[in-house]
Amino acid sequence: MLVDCGLYQERKYQDRNWRPFQFSPESLDAVFLTHAHLDHCGLLPKLVRDGYRGKIYCTQATAEIAQIILLDAAHLQEEDAAYKARRHQREGRRGPYPELPLYTTEDAEAVVPHFAAVEYGNCVRVTDDIDGCFYNAGHVLGSAVVTVNIAWGCEKRRILFSGDVGEPDRPIVNDPVVFDEADYAVIESTYGNRTHVEHKSIDIQAQLRDCINETIKAGGNIVVPSFALERSQELLYHLNELLLREEIPPVAVFLDSPMAMRITEVFKRHAELFDREMVQRLRQGNSPFSFENLRIVQTTEESKAINLIKERVIIIAGSGMVTGGRIKHHLVNNITRPESTVLFVGYQAEGTPGRILLDGARELRLLGQTYPVRASIVKIDGFSAHADREGLLAWLSDMRKPPRCVFVTHGEEIAATSFAEFLSKQTGWQTVVPHYQDTALLT
Ligand SMILES: [Zn+2]
Repeated sequence: MLVDCGLYQERKYQDRNWRPFQFSPESLDAVFLTHAHLDHCGLLPKLVRDGYRGKIYCTQATAEIAQIILLDAAHLQEEDAAYKARRHQREGRRGPYPELPLYTTEDAEAVVPHFAAVEYGNCVRVTDDIDGCFYNAGHVLGSAVVTVNIAWGCEKRRILFSGDVGEPDRPIVNDPVVFDEADYAVIESTYGNRTHVEHKSIDIQAQLRDCINETIKAGGNIVVPSFALERSQELLYHLNELLLREEIPPVAVFLDSPMAMRITEVFKRHAELFDREMVQRLRQGNSPFSFENLRIVQTTEESKAINLIKERVIIIAGSGMVTGGRIKHHLVNNITRPESTVLFVGYQAEGTPGRILLDGARELRLLGQTYPVRASIVKIDGFSAHADREGLLAWLSDMRKPPRCVFVTHGEEIAATSFAEFLSKQTGWQTVVPHYQDTALLT
């Protein structure tokens, strides 16, 4: 079995995406997919192309979102490969990676028939002695914690795979399910060395409100680079709340990201996954995905037409780190205006235009031209979709007896090591931080 099949997005690990799998894909009995983020599902097209014939078990929402995300990734890789090939030819050199897409749109499409939906709380039997069960992880819509239960003779073992664990009390999705029993646990550690305490005390909506009101008063627009999955929908949720409470003027909100729009459609189809507050809003007829001031932008022409609007507006567009997408032309139109604000609501990786702006750049290159940065650059913290150190500990703290071992994975080395030490110290449990391609014998 395989749990998740993610793509390495960090530049320094990208060559791993190109290496052959360390196992034969056709020998697998099952794939369990925790959620639709690219670092969990991004290599599925390669897995299927290289011979996997079985089912990919996940929730229905994950299957629908992963399909959108994988097709987009394939498209970007095709574009990227074509661009690199042209550039290398022009420069008469060869790059470190082949000028081929890692996988194509056809490869991504071939994954779709393999998805098999499992509801939260349900299990699938993979072989006579192995089953896998899905529980809400509270991270993004459809995200799951997977437990794999193995029986041989009268012995049983339960292995808990966290996927990514969400923070409790986030908008839209329910809180993560906790477990009182596991023989082994494999847990993520994205924020394993951080404490969001200061974030928790900050009211996201209050920060948003102040930022919007100040910008509108100055006569500018608010431009928000945003990730298509969860962050865009959360942002719409908060904006809807502020509009309902009339804490901000009735400004138009443009969602100008085709991918965010398609993913929002998946959200709308899966109201059964919403938390109580969200259900209440829907019952009152105040959906954050179709409020009066919300304008869904479809075509590139419509996107460009936003610039002709004279009233002050809020524009949410991808990509989240300004590495591509429609956000670029909105920045071209707003970045030189001192009255406008560029508002960041998510993590900005090193080297991305988003990070360069946040680090205080005086000018920025966009679509082939350099612009002076005169707009306000603002970041709102507290949008984290990952549990922090205490959150991860709390998530494990219902265990009635110590797991035989907790494997701490899926974080930068410093975060993983720090969380493993913290967990051992707090609980006395055995923890291990596995390295790339390590193996472990479960007894
Ligand atoms: Zn994730």
